[in-house]
Amino acid sequence: MALFGEEDYTASMMNRKTIAVIGAGPAGLAAAERISAAGHDVVVYDHMPSPARKFLMAGRSGLNLTHAEDLSLFRTRYGAAEAWLTPFIERFPPQALRDWADGLGQSCFTGSSGRVFPHAMKASPLLRAWLGRLAAQNVRLALRHRWTGWDAQGRLLFSTPEGMASACPDAVVLALGGASWSRLGSDGGWVEYLPPDSVAPLQPANCGFQTCCPAAFHERFHGEVLHSVVISGAGVQARGDVTITQRGIEGAPVYRVSAAWRDALAERAPLDIRIDFRPGLTRDALTQRLDKFRARESQANRLRRLGLSAPARWLLREALENRVQPAGSCVENQTEGAADGLAALIKSCPLWLSGTDALDRAISTSGGVRRDAVNQAVMLKARPGVFVAGEMLDWEAPTGGYLLQACFATGRAAGDGVLSWLEAGP
Ligand SMILES: Cc1cc2nc3c(=O)[nH]c(=O)nc-3n(C[C@H](O)[C@H](O)[C@H](O)COP(=O)(O)OP(=O)(O)OC[C@H]3O[C@@H](n4cnc5c(N)ncnc54)[C@H](O)[C@@H]3O)c2cc1C
Repeated sequence: MALFGEEDYTASMMNRKTIAVIGAGPAGLAAAERISAAGHDVVVYDHMPSPARKFLMAGRSGLNLTHAEDLSLFRTRYGAAEAWLTPFIERFPPQALRDWADGLGQSCFTGSSGRVFPHAMKASPLLRAWLGRLAAQNVRLALRHRWTGWDAQGRLLFSTPEGMASACPDAVVLALGGASWSRLGSDGGWVEYLPPDSVAPLQPANCGFQTCCPAAFHERFHGEVLHSVVISGAGVQARGDVTITQRGIEGAPVYRVSAAWRDALAERAPLDIRIDFRPGLTRDALTQRLDKFRARESQANRLRRLGLSAPARWLLREALENRVQPAGSCVENQTEGAADGLAALIKSCPLWLSGTDALDRAISTSGGVRRDAVNQAVMLKARPGVFVAGEMLDWEAPTGGYLLQACFATGRAAGDGVLSWLEAGP
C-alpha cells in the first residue's frame, strides 16, 4: 500500500476533509496527530469528561512506554498476532516512540529490565504537551460524547448531555480501547455496534486469578505479598512478588503467565498451580536447614524460623492437611515433621485456581476486532472508511511497554490508512 510523506500529502490535497476519531486514548490521539498533520480537520470524540484517562493511570506507577529489546524479540511478544502487528511496529518502532516523546520534551531512559520510561515517569507532562500539539494542529475534542453506533443513513450517533447528536465525517477511526478499568472510559460497549462475527470475545489479559482457598484466607491476608516466589502451572512459570487479593492473587509474575493460565482454565477448571516459596534454595539445602531444628519444634515454628510469611505458612499448613484442594482431588500426602517432605512442599506448594479475576480488574483485554475483519490498513471490510486502532483490535501482549507500543503503532497505521483512503478517493 502506498503511504504518503506528510508534505507530499498536504501539497497534493485538494480538499480538507473532516475525520472523526472516536476514543481519546493513546491510539486515537496517535491517529488524530497523523491525520491532522496532513492538514485535515479532526474531531476526537470521547464519552469521558477528559481525554486519555487510562494513559494517565498507566503513568501512576511509572509510565512504561515501550521496551528496548531487539525488534526481532520485541515482535514475538505479540504471540499469535506477531505477523499481523509486525508491519505496524516496523513502521513505528520503539525508537520512533522514544523520539516522539523526546519531541514533546519528555526524553526517556531504559531501566535495568530494558523497559523504557520517560524521565518524568508520569504520563501527565507528556499528555499535556501532546494535547498542546494537537490543539496547534486544530484537532478539536468533543468530550462527553458517547458513540452509540450508526443510523440507517450511516451517520455516527452520539449520546451527549444535551441529547443525541450525529456526525457525517469523511472517514472514521475507532479507538475505543478494551473493556478493563471501565471507570477510566473503556467499557467494551462498542462490541454491540459492530457485526458479531467481526469481534472475538473480550477476555481479561494481564489479569489476576481467583483461588479455591476459603474466603477466610483472603479476608485475613488480602493485600499481603508473597515476596520473590516462583509460580508455575500449565507449562509456564514466573518469578516475583505475588499479591493476595480479596478473592485471589495478582501481581507482575501472575500477569506474565496469565494468558496461558486463562486459556488452560477455559479447558479445565480448577487449575493446579505451584508456588516455590524459596526459589533460591534447593530442596536438599532446605531439608538440611529443617533438620537443624530441634525435633520437638512445632511445624509452625520451623516455617516461621525459615522466614516464611504468615500467608505462606497458612498455604503450606492447608496443603499438609490437604485442605486447599477442591473436592475430588488430592496431593501426595506429606508426613508431618518429615524434613524432606516439608522441604518438597515449600518448593512446590499447590494452589488451585478457579478462574480469572473479573475483566474489569485486568490490566488489558484480549479479543476484539478480528484480524480478518480489517484490511492491511486496519479498515473494517464491512464498513469502508472506518478504521480501527489500539487495544480494541484482537491482540494481546504482556506488560513491559508492549501494550502502549502497539496502541501507538496501530493508531499511526489507522491514520496512514485514512490518508491513503482519502487520497485514493472513497
Ligand atoms: C493500571 C494500568 C496500568 C497500565 N500501565 C501500562 C504501562 O505502563 N505500559 C503499557 O504499555 N501499557 C499499560 N497499560 C495499558 C495501556 O494503558 C492500554 O493498553 C492503552 O491505554 C490502550 O490504549 P487505547 O487508546 O487503545 O484505549 P484506551 O486508552 O482505553 O482509550 C479508549 C478511549 O475510548 C473511550 N471510549 C470507549 N468507549 C467509548 C464510546 N462508546 N464513545 C466514546 N468514547 C469511548 C474511552 O473513554 C477512552 O478514552 C496499563 C493499563 C492499566 C489499567
